[in-house]
Amino acid sequence: QDRAGRTHRGFHRGGTSLADGALMTDGPDGRSVIVTGGGSGIGRATALAFAAQGDRVVVADLDGAAADAVVIEAVRAGGTATAVPGDLSEQAVVERVTATAVGRFGGVDVLVNNAGIMDSMSALGDVDDAEWERVIRVNLTAPFLLTRAVLPHMLAAGHGVVVNTASEAALRGSAAGAAYTASKHGVVGLTRSLAVTYRGNGIRANAVCPGGTATGIAVAADPTAHGPSALAPHFVNLGRVARPEEQAAVILFLASQAASHINGAILPVDDGWSAV
Ligand code: NAD
Repeated sequence: QDRAGRTHRGFHRGGTSLADGALMTDGPDGRSVIVTGGGSGIGRATALAFAAQGDRVVVADLDGAAADAVVIEAVRAGGTATAVPGDLSEQAVVERVTATAVGRFGGVDVLVNNAGIMDSMSALGDVDDAEWERVIRVNLTAPFLLTRAVLPHMLAAGHGVVVNTASEAALRGSAAGAAYTASKHGVVGLTRSLAVTYRGNGIRANAVCPGGTATGIAVAADPTAHGPSALAPHFVNLGRVARPEEQAAVILFLASQAASHINGAILPVDDGWSAV
């Protein structure tokens, strides 16, 4: 039963993967998927989309009530999901998330490191230590901790896919503040390092770089909310703001068999914002 007291569909391990692990199943039998930040915005849309296609989803989020609500939504729609609340920058929470995926869903086929926080968009000289450390810890260290925790399971299975949510702020000195921009550049490095190190083990890692997307975090990203800012002109070429589902669709593609030869890619999903 999930946290909402609903009975899950019977667990059945997905079909076989090729010996080199390049083609893992994403067919109707489903995979075991972890989505961090799954309680809101892009993570919520991603968790629901995985569940809708028959995957079994661990919804991990600091906001336990939000994660529970997403699980209820997924299960009502006929999917399989379970929630793990907690701060993913803490090792104990990382271990709980991993143990839940392995114990209940049989392993970790897909990890989506998506949880993230925005900084205050202060100029670099005004960023205090606490803000710097918190943003780096949540946006960069937490994905490292969870990836390191699931790797042994992916290596044992001979396959695995990691999709990291970076940002358009990963591609340039950005409209976001210094800590956020640095953390998201770090996510790109983490993604590439993973891709190169484990490509012989059937493990792929890619990152999406969302532009403006209509979620909770986008409110914090509103430059007008912080008064006159040298960064405000950057938003002129923002383009159309995405729906969270438009980011989720790309994450699902990168996690799918259709993307079996895409590894180490850093993909802008931003209506051309980064191309201007
Ligand atoms: P959101 O605020 O709606 O969702 C983020 C989720 O992460 C929330 O549910 C929050 O509770 C969770 N979270 C935050 N800190 C956590 C922690 N320490 N442990 C566990 N969960 C935690 O925002 P979103 O836009 O859906 O953000 C998802 C990702 O997309 C983030 O990494 C963000 O940086 C990135 N992104 C968003 C935009 C945008 O315009 N929305 C643009 C570029 C990148």
